[in-house]
Amino acid sequence: MGNARKVYVRTFGCQMNVYDSERMTEALSAQGYAETETLDDADLVILNTCHIREKAAEKVYSDLGRIRQVKDARAEVGSDTVIAVVGCVAQAEGAEIVRRAPAVDLVVGPQSYHRLGELIARTRAENRALVETQFPEEEKFNHLPQRAPSRGVTAFLTVQEGCDKFCTFCVVPYTRGMEYSRAVVEVEKEARALVAGGVREVTLLGQNVNGYHGEGPDRRTYSLADLVRHLSGIEGLERLRYTTSHPRDMDDDLIAAHGNEPKLMPYLHLPFQSGADRILAAMNRKHTAAEYSSLVARIRAAQPDLALSTDIIVGFPGETDAEFQATLDLYSQIGFAAAYSFKYSPRPGTPAEKMDQQVPEDVKAERLARLQKLVEQQQQAFAAGCVGRTLPVLFERPGRRPGQLIGRSPYLQSVYAEAPAEMLGRIVPVEISGFGPNSLNGVIRPE
Ligand code: SAM
Ligand code: SF4
Repeated sequence: MGNARKVYVRTFGCQMNVYDSERMTEALSAQGYAETETLDDADLVILNTCHIREKAAEKVYSDLGRIRQVKDARAEVGSDTVIAVVGCVAQAEGAEIVRRAPAVDLVVGPQSYHRLGELIARTRAENRALVETQFPEEEKFNHLPQRAPSRGVTAFLTVQEGCDKFCTFCVVPYTRGMEYSRAVVEVEKEARALVAGGVREVTLLGQNVNGYHGEGPDRRTYSLADLVRHLSGIEGLERLRYTTSHPRDMDDDLIAAHGNEPKLMPYLHLPFQSGADRILAAMNRKHTAAEYSSLVARIRAAQPDLALSTDIIVGFPGETDAEFQATLDLYSQIGFAAAYSFKYSPRPGTPAEKMDQQVPEDVKAERLARLQKLVEQQQQAFAAGCVGRTLPVLFERPGRRPGQLIGRSPYLQSVYAEAPAEMLGRIVPVEISGFGPNSLNGVIRPE
């Protein structure tokens, strides 16, 4: 492999992009590319981009400035570099990227990255930039190689893509396209390959993963609960998670699965975005704050030992102080183990971008800081509640200190413990003795 071509991949944004980057790297490896973490060595640079908020999108252009310098320096010593912008910024901005950053050779949308190898060859042969942002007829998953042995004990697996919910703030329906579910046999094949390669925990991914409706092996349409039950039968697969869910698609069967599927972890990411009904309606979320609360009550009745996390946007157009207070109130009333909170970012082409009464930046920043304080308090309270309990921890990798391993609790917290390396990939009882800002620590207990 000494003179294999090298590929450098930088991933922005959500877990689906992490998954897509892995699949791209695996496909390119089958074509002779070795992965590098050094930009200067790379014959191919891939930026897998995120368009969800302005900051993430702009970061791509600042990175491209630096990468162009590397490309120029390599050209001086006779090495050529292909720069590919992939993912949601590619989909949203298309040829505009090449106009703003002419060093870019390829612009490829998230549904076309299975064609990367062919596009690289074409851009080289034709010596011009190519833009591929059509939503192709064929399904990319059918054109990617089987999963390579995994690099870890946990893995993401995309089962559903796209979204037709059209929340008024969100670019996903435009960048990822319409909702689409992969067939159960395809998902199962991939999960089995991951498990054969050492994976013990799989997180099923989708923009609205609980809207999953894939074709089952018996031609019946499978819901996410059906899929979870089906995958639970895979020997060696110990844990299942799924993300991200929409409150509207949380059906009774899936709620029940939280109570009776032991492999399904007691953790649920369920965004509520705002605690004010007027804002929820303007966001087109299709639920009220009270409906969200009663949904959570039903889920907790099925599984009382559940860690909940959520997404929240502050400063949506027209949000008043009282409406923001309603968000804080809902958050306090429900109680969460974790949350991702964001300042509203106007996105080109979305209805909210054109709404009156955009909230000033300083107001958004102040609201975000207040919310994040509450989030942190509840996160610490949740961690404190784990102290003294013995939790099953799946050890994933060595810790910073020798003799230490890091794993995950069922609630997705990082857990540090002194443990022998043989415990990597195993689920071991750990008595939690303390916690830091973002992790727990504990002592292994005999099984
Ligand atoms: N499909 C998921 C749902 O409906 O909850 C979320 C997908 S989105 C990739 C992740 C999160 O980004 C959203 O839940 C929302 O909180 C946030 N987000 C999306 N668009 C945003 C915007 N324009 N400004 C700020 N945050 C945004
Ligand atoms: Fe975006 Fe709403 Fe779809 Fe989530 S449900 S991806 S926030 S449009």
